[in-house]
Amino acid sequence: MSEPIILHNYVGGEFIAPSTGLYLENPEPAVGTVLSHVPKSAAEDVKAAVDAAKTAFVDWSARPYTERADWLDKVANRLEERLDELALMESRDTGKPIKLAKTIDIPRSISNFRFFAGAVRHDATECHNMAGAINYTLRKPVGVAGLITPWNLPLYLLSWKVAPALAMGNTIVAKPSEVTPMTAALLADVFHEVGAPAGIFNLVHGLGGDAGQAIVEHPDVKLVSFTGGTATGRRVAATAAPMFKKLSLELGGKNPTVIFADADFDDAVQGAARAGFANQGQICLCGSRILVERPIYDKFVDALVKQVASLKVGNPSDPDTDVGSLVSLPHREKVESYVALAKEEGGTIALGGMRPELDGEHANGAFLLPTIVTGLDANCRTSTEEIFGPVVTVHPFDTEEEALAIANGVQYGLAASVWTSDLKRAHRFSAALDSGMVWVNTWLLRDLRVPFGGMKDSGVGREGGKYSLGFFSEARNVCIKL
Ligand code: NAD
Repeated sequence: MSEPIILHNYVGGEFIAPSTGLYLENPEPAVGTVLSHVPKSAAEDVKAAVDAAKTAFVDWSARPYTERADWLDKVANRLEERLDELALMESRDTGKPIKLAKTIDIPRSISNFRFFAGAVRHDATECHNMAGAINYTLRKPVGVAGLITPWNLPLYLLSWKVAPALAMGNTIVAKPSEVTPMTAALLADVFHEVGAPAGIFNLVHGLGGDAGQAIVEHPDVKLVSFTGGTATGRRVAATAAPMFKKLSLELGGKNPTVIFADADFDDAVQGAARAGFANQGQICLCGSRILVERPIYDKFVDALVKQVASLKVGNPSDPDTDVGSLVSLPHREKVESYVALAKEEGGTIALGGMRPELDGEHANGAFLLPTIVTGLDANCRTSTEEIFGPVVTVHPFDTEEEALAIANGVQYGLAASVWTSDLKRAHRFSAALDSGMVWVNTWLLRDLRVPFGGMKDSGVGREGGKYSLGFFSEARNVCIKL
């Protein structure tokens, strides 16, 4: 067993200990041993980071966009050189299969830096001609950006905010989840290695209620981009709104996967399995409510059970593993409480519902078998609350109207996938869904230019392409009388 790694905050280009002198233990969820000691930072540490970011802003915001884009490319290149190390650390820290970390999480993080380097190089602002005058839009950096991220896709989601924030000339105080801080620490290391200007990227580790809250409260943090749970998002909004900060909230979901009888059956089974169980069901976009048109319902449930039962569960470091461990033991307890609730609410566990029996060092990891529940009312708590784990509920429907009512009948509105071979229905149904994102006959197919975000309790604002460039800047109109 290796010694735990001691993490540091990264402030003004230096790695430093927290002012409190206190550290949190960060366990490796698949084995239960301590992977790292994480600074338990306080408001004082956030203040130092904001001061460093404010100082750096003067120079960084004045640099040409081409230079800022070049720095993003340097970070991307170094991340790419360290891809294997980053993927292994992401997998150990979260419990996700190494296959996923290597092919999705880290490559996508690299792409985020390259994409926003390209986006800012090719960006253009608007010009509005009017009688006797011309208007043009300038985009100014906002200032110090507070970036707060969750544990499910640690580097992927952090880089999705860091890259556009820097591209537009802002400087950063970031706080990763205390549950999965490792790749954020490595990102700080990469900024340091490439010699990025001191203070443009500051990292403060710690608890949400301490360091996170202090970032949102700090009057010099002019913009907050938050991804996490809906309850936390509500608190962040309540704190930031009276100070009129720019605010982006990417929150929870309970996404429907809607399968019509005319869909390509095998594609729909594969798609629903992937949407339900990728990253152990811990992606905000996961389809955890599967609605199936009645004529194919029984056949579909049988095929889904067979498909999901074939997934290999276990050691995240094994390249053949499909389903790793959940992110922590407390999170597994939460997910298991929903399995118990599903039974209380009259559901049938068609697959899983228990812990796998694993040997050796994984015997006490936070594993849970992929779980399929049938027979539940579509309005019960299990079917409508976010579980954020490897648990899906499957429901039959008779008409398109009924499918729409079930799909829209929750507080969330983040993503949906619809499976049908009827083109008109695909358009009609996609337009009627209360959902920020709809996939038809696919799931999680991403173009980084498109708007990403949710409606209802799934959040406020959109990220991606020009939406991120807009959020991370202040638009200013200049009107010239001719
Ligand atoms: P969480 O809300 O518990 O924590 C998210 C982050 O907020 C963490 O860094 C945490 O330390 C911090 N935080 C906690 N309290 C805070 C406070 N008072 N002020 C400021 N920061 C605070 O979420 P989580 O459990 O880490 O992540 C899971 C949730 O994230 C799920 O609900 C999931 O749906 C959501 N999520 C949404 C998206 C999206 O794009 N919409 C993407 C990924 C995850």
